Amino acid sequence: MSTSTLHINLNNLCQNWRDLDAQSAPHVETAAVVKADGYGLGSAQVATALQKAGANSFFVALPSEGAVLRKALGNAAKIYVFSGMMLSDAKTLHDHKLIPMLNAPEQMMRFRTELPDADFGIQLDTGMNRLGMEANEFAPHRDSAQNAQLIISHLACADTPDHPQNRAQLAEFHALTDGLSARRSLAATGGTLLGAEYHFDLCRPGIGLYGGHPFTNAAPVATLSIPVIQTRVVAAGETVGYSATWVAQRNSRVATIAAGYADGLIRAMGGGDICLFADGIPCPIIGRVSMDLITVDVTDLDHVPDQMDLLTETQTIEHLADAAGTIGYEILTNLGARYARNYAG
Ligand SMILES: *Cc1c(COP(=O)(O)O)cnc(C)c1O
Repeated sequence: MSTSTLHINLNNLCQNWRDLDAQSAPHVETAAVVKADGYGLGSAQVATALQKAGANSFFVALPSEGAVLRKALGNAAKIYVFSGMMLSDAKTLHDHKLIPMLNAPEQMMRFRTELPDADFGIQLDTGMNRLGMEANEFAPHRDSAQNAQLIISHLACADTPDHPQNRAQLAEFHALTDGLSARRSLAATGGTLLGAEYHFDLCRPGIGLYGGHPFTNAAPVATLSIPVIQTRVVAAGETVGYSATWVAQRNSRVATIAAGYADGLIRAMGGGDICLFADGIPCPIIGRVSMDLITVDVTDLDHVPDQMDLLTETQTIEHLADAAGTIGYEILTNLGARYARNYAG
């Protein structure tokens, strides 16, 4: 095939969902966060597979993402929108039966005026200072909060289990919501792994479903194969790529493959120990990552295949993230629009 192909293993995705679901007690619901097009892997396909595995509740960032999801999932699924209800969101929320997580007193007012009979959720700020109502803003709305479908808050440091802010946010969430009858949720992937105290009525993992940290036992979900465009012989002493950063120490064979930083393969991951795999044999990236191309040292191969693999079961988004000085979330969500997506399972 002449396009790069992102292979998405929906069986492993569903296994990760079941494994995370098994972390919490049976009465705790496990939802799925599928914002940013299912962390770059295709929200409709991802959510449909998870619905079959047993997920009933889904979270997106924006109403437009919810509209796509509603079409894929049908009317039974609950679809929550983290950004709540911004100006002119009413029609999309209404038409697709989306549940806004109301984040501020102005959003509460807007909701009451524009969609008074619709379902809603509430997001509280317990210390992250990003989204959600603070204690003083929430106080006048405590009574109506009884009718919320869900009350959530989000942990800032859940991927660092010993961080004191986890307990502080947990205490604040209790202080704000104890005594209310509405269902509650505090845990994303990190919080799900922190233990039962953090689970409340619903856990809402994202990254762990897709094989990313902090769910270190996750099964890999995305693998990526990239076609080889051409190979060449480079004599000892010649250089490869922009700024001539790589100098051949021996007579070498170099393969040029058809993806680069415009495909989400972050330029900073070059020059480290990231490899392309030729039928399982590792071949180092050499020189700079270009916009549409990466160069690979294939001198030691007997045979250069038509495709080489960048993401594999053993070289995961976390390895790419470490090499590029970023996190698995950013690698995943940047995986490019130019890839063909191939779903298995
Ligand atoms: C993105 C997000 C999640 C999912 O987080 P992961 O770390 O990917 O599990 C959960 N809750 C909120 C509010 C989010 O923004």
